[in-house]
Amino acid sequence: MAINIADYIRNVPDFPVAGVQFKDITSLLLSPAAFSDTIDRMVAHAGASKPDCLAAIDSRGFLFAAPMAVRMQLPLLLIRKAGKLPGETLEFDYSLEYGNSTLEIHAGDITPGHRVLIIDDLLATGGSLNAAVSLIEKAGGITASIGVVIELIGLGGRDALSGYHLFSLVSFE
Ligand code: IMP
Repeated sequence: MAINIADYIRNVPDFPVAGVQFKDITSLLLSPAAFSDTIDRMVAHAGASKPDCLAAIDSRGFLFAAPMAVRMQLPLLLIRKAGKLPGETLEFDYSLEYGNSTLEIHAGDITPGHRVLIIDDLLATGGSLNAAVSLIEKAGGITASIGVVIELIGLGGRDALSGYHLFSLVSFE
């Protein structure tokens, strides 16, 4: 029987603050069948954009991009929050609802002109993925496609990334 991935994503009301309906992927990871099916579907969506490498956003993006990169036999590079990467980095600062944040990649991880598939677990406002796109492009890469497992509808994420090919497996209002 076909797996419905949405059934494996737990909704946690009022986390991390009152009023937020948090989509929790830890329940998906507990099911090898659902996790494996998720990776299969992400890989199936991703292939058409013909990426040269994958870039994963810290930290839940790593969980999905790593098995995808192994299946696709493509290099995986990490987009990390500030101060986590040991080598020389390129940085991109961006605004959050409260305050600012910085994403970094290792300078030289991206070959200029290479097509990069950017992966995260979830799209909400698109702020994180927009920052990741800017960082990849600052490093000379081309955004081949953007893939997320979960898309939250109504927060403007897809509009914020208009002009880029974006795929998601499940959507929630
Ligand atoms: P955005 O930058 O507003 O699109 O938020 C997306 C980022 O916030 C992703 O890196 C997610 O991991 C995280 N995030 C936001 N809301 C949720 C949620 O409901 N569940 C899990 N992660 C979330």
